[in-house]
Amino acid sequence: MICCVPFTTAARVWGGVMKSGRQTTLRQQTALSGVGVHSGLPVTITLHPADAGSGLRFVRSGINGGRDREIVADIGAVAATEFATVLGDANGPLISTAEHVLSALCGLGVDNATVEVDGPEAPILDGSAAPFVAAIDQVGLQLLDLPRRYLKVLKPVRVALADAFGEIRPNPRGFRVEAEVEFDNTMIGRQSLALDVRPDTYRRDIARARTFGFMRDVANLWSAGYALGASLENTLVVSDHRILNPEGTRFPDEFVRHKMLDAIGDLALAGGPILGTYRTVKGGHKLNYAVLCALMEDASAWIWVEDVAPRPVRGHIDVGLRPAPAFGPEIS
Ligand SMILES: [Zn+2]
Repeated sequence: MICCVPFTTAARVWGGVMKSGRQTTLRQQTALSGVGVHSGLPVTITLHPADAGSGLRFVRSGINGGRDREIVADIGAVAATEFATVLGDANGPLISTAEHVLSALCGLGVDNATVEVDGPEAPILDGSAAPFVAAIDQVGLQLLDLPRRYLKVLKPVRVALADAFGEIRPNPRGFRVEAEVEFDNTMIGRQSLALDVRPDTYRRDIARARTFGFMRDVANLWSAGYALGASLENTLVVSDHRILNPEGTRFPDEFVRHKMLDAIGDLALAGGPILGTYRTVKGGHKLNYAVLCALMEDASAWIWVEDVAPRPVRGHIDVGLRPAPAFGPEIS
């Protein structure tokens, strides 16, 4: 059920919706068209409003001779994590490169939405989440009449993969990401950034960071069927000693910022906003997924909690959290 409390500007979204403790969705649908960065295929993605409690879902439409297929965006839907996060069902992969739109939805505090994609891969657009943010901001968010439900991390969970390392640990104040990248390349080197993820910080510091790749990898990627839609319009391309894009970088540390963007999208597969701090060192989609799986598999490491209505306590307003009914993603 959708109640009619419109919030149209970014400031009002942050000041009203996020602090209300209630779930959100989009006020109306919005669509973007482009090509898939790996497939090179043209595609339209439509973000639809969804009911409270339904979470983030994908619908793959436009299947030749087939019915639309729907997937709940949770870790059970992850079909692959090579070069992109691919979601699918028992019949196989359905939607590739889901992480950027998930990142925008999570970053802006959208709890419920149905993401319809009429091709096998979400469009790469300019390589960042900024076009999704602009589209969501244009229609605005709507408050729903169920309390927001958070996945609260109760104890640290760590995963190491080769020289990459990921950890999620408790943070009752909100969702924070600490990221570090290190590449043997003079244009990147070592970059690190830590950020409390909220709609205002997401818009300012994360959304515009673009996908990046290395010129030396292009031939191998193409021969493996990846990056067929990549261009300087949608990918920050790095050679040994320079950035090939004529406009250069949007941030001096755009690379680590994009890693954060990806991590926020991948962790949206928790099924709700996280109260925790995620640290990723030299990570990627595979590590993000592995940490989320390790967390969810340990039932003592997390709990669903939901916002309770603000109540006055000795002259000030206290916003509390209480255990939520168990209707989270199934774990198997
Ligand atoms: Zn990415």
